[in-house]
Amino acid sequence: MIIIRVALDVPVDSLFDYIAPDATQLNIGSLVRVPFGKRFMIGIIMAIANDAQVPHEKLKQAEVIWQDVPPLPATLIELFEFCSRYYHHPIGMVIMNGLPTRLRSSKLLPQRASAPSLFRLTDAGRAIAPSSIPARNKIKHRLLAQLKEAGSISSKEAKQISLRAAGTLQEFLLQGWVEKVLIEPESALNTSSPLQLTAEQITAINAIRAEIGLFNTWLLHGVTGSGKTEVYLQVTAMLLKQNRQVLILVPEINLTPQLEAVFRARFPATYLVSLHSRLSPVERMHGWLQAQRGEAGIVLGTRLAIFTPLPKLGLIIVDEEHDHSFKQQDGLRYSARDVAIFRAKQTDIPIILGSATPSLESYYNAITGRYRRLCLRIRAVKNATLPVIRYINTRAIQLKEGLSEPLLLALENCLTQKQQSMIFINRRGYAPVLLCKSCTWLAACSRCSSRLVLHLAQKNLRCHYCGHKEQLPPACPQCGDQDLMPFGHGTQRIEAALAKFFPEARILRVDRDNIRRKEAWQSMLTAIHQQQVDILVGTQLLAKGHYFPNLSFVGVLNADASLYSTDFRAEERLFAQLMQVAGRAGRAGTAGEVLIQTEFPDHPLYHALKHHDYDAHAQMLLKEREITHFPPYSYQALLNAEAPHIDVAIEFLTTATKLIEPVKQIEIFDPVPAQMARLKGLERAHLLIQSSSRKKLQLFLSDWYIKLCKIPNRKVRWALDVDPLEF
Ligand code: ADP
Ligand code: ZN
Ligand code: ZN
Repeated sequence: MIIIRVALDVPVDSLFDYIAPDATQLNIGSLVRVPFGKRFMIGIIMAIANDAQVPHEKLKQAEVIWQDVPPLPATLIELFEFCSRYYHHPIGMVIMNGLPTRLRSSKLLPQRASAPSLFRLTDAGRAIAPSSIPARNKIKHRLLAQLKEAGSISSKEAKQISLRAAGTLQEFLLQGWVEKVLIEPESALNTSSPLQLTAEQITAINAIRAEIGLFNTWLLHGVTGSGKTEVYLQVTAMLLKQNRQVLILVPEINLTPQLEAVFRARFPATYLVSLHSRLSPVERMHGWLQAQRGEAGIVLGTRLAIFTPLPKLGLIIVDEEHDHSFKQQDGLRYSARDVAIFRAKQTDIPIILGSATPSLESYYNAITGRYRRLCLRIRAVKNATLPVIRYINTRAIQLKEGLSEPLLLALENCLTQKQQSMIFINRRGYAPVLLCKSCTWLAACSRCSSRLVLHLAQKNLRCHYCGHKEQLPPACPQCGDQDLMPFGHGTQRIEAALAKFFPEARILRVDRDNIRRKEAWQSMLTAIHQQQVDILVGTQLLAKGHYFPNLSFVGVLNADASLYSTDFRAEERLFAQLMQVAGRAGRAGTAGEVLIQTEFPDHPLYHALKHHDYDAHAQMLLKEREITHFPPYSYQALLNAEAPHIDVAIEFLTTATKLIEPVKQIEIFDPVPAQMARLKGLERAHLLIQSSSRKKLQLFLSDWYIKLCKIPNRKVRWALDVDPLEF
């Protein structure tokens, strides 16, 4: 009897034994359908054995399902195993997190979408003399003639020659006269050619190309507008020529369409697959399978794309590598950037981490020589310079609706000169607080430790953490006073104020509330690019990676909140965000201007920002981290616990600490309530573990994790978070 050991999506870190299905071929990595309890589940064969680890009478039979889905490649399984080990998460759950949902359901697979294909003449085909084909074979003659003339023929064109041409093309394919390439329907519309490179771009590209077949982590540190994309494009071109696949990760789903368009235009003959969570399950599965079959030359996607099977992978690019969206905050708490580095190493290929503001971890790795830094210090567009940054001390000045006189003046100037401007405020809604003037009541979420945000247009209050919504109360629920006052500013309130100050201006607000639909963002981008917008008001969505060629002024409101935060990464994040936002300003020929309203214009962060001095700021933060022994000078893990009552969560964590025998080089902190102490009706606490050795921390966690799994408890939900970003 042959036994297969199967990984299943259940919260137990082990494999499950089944009797192998009757199949001619049994492969590790194949999908199988197995009975589990009262239902059926899809699993992955992880091992094939001669004997089971459970009594034979308990064994059940597995079924093979789709013969046409190839088994997961061994390297991908290895990647999953690494994630399971490193993040201490059950292997079955790791794998299922990485597979497209559609593959996980046992419904039959829909027919493969037939992408329009193009048949390209090969060298062998070119060598065929038409006279060698019998004259009676008219279709063959005409096809070959057409191929020789145009170099390629699409399936549609072939059909026009004859309905039987498709069969003939298959013959050509078998004989090696043509090769099949998948094409994008719209690809021929927009094409771009390589740009004349700047000296810095040349240096960067040459450095990467010189070691193209080797593992290296390249940190492409380039100021905003320095042309990092062109570096990606030209390195990609080299790999596509070698018939290798390129994987590109972006932090934010809204960045995919733009980058996708850039890559499609440069490589119209390459099949590009875009993978992100807005695709339908069937679309995502097809893209995934096209990548696995090696048909997709370029795969572009958000963090989940890191688990795409890519048999010919030759390069990974992680754009905006500092962005926290690469880390998944629930389930498998992985960092797609870090997994990408592991994957590059595993495959022995280069990885490029691109950013204008690298994470301190990456920066540290670069200056200590583990990564190799390539700097782009000047803007690529001729005569474009970095913007001038000024501060407005809001302690010394009166504000009108949250806006200062100099800022309003700057906006007015832009309007008269017909230039675009942008107000950045990282808070959506109308006002972050609704309060009662008589009794100091504040609208708060009953399920979270957060305030409810006033959304005036919809006349409701919303929790931005759990999504809870409620009607705007007509009077104070505590004292009955009808004078409820919105306090503070959000994007909607600024939008309204600007409409009042500049009635003739065309104002566009961009935040998560109005770009939920896929098309919404596209049409907004078009409006911005076609100069149909005078003033943009938006959150960090506007700050990330977009290039607005007509924007000359940026105003920043409410940035101070992160300056004195308890989160040790808050300052790093704020600096990155402001560098990015400021980077939106300025065009060829005109330097942009940035005005930042702040109560602390003398803060060192603002000083470094004014001089666009990333290095000075990073060095300063690194010194602090070294003294406080925080990452990158230490490695951290967090044990999170959630329960209906905080005492229960803390008690669980206390029990967890008692399982620890003192280990050298491992620091264990006391259990404390999380920064967001209540979320979605559960109270949360955590325990921090820290070590200066990643290896020691890993060894400790492996051992501890096994013990944690044995703590009897029903009320607590717990999880380990390795390299946590949120506390
Ligand atoms: P980054 O991602 O580094 O902020 P981008 O790659 O978006 O910058 O490039 C900014 C602008 O500079 C784009 O419009 C791009 O087409 C242009 N650009 C890039 N490289 C060059 C070059 N060598 N010469 C002229 N323009 C360039
Ligand atoms: Zn009241
Ligand atoms: Zn809430």
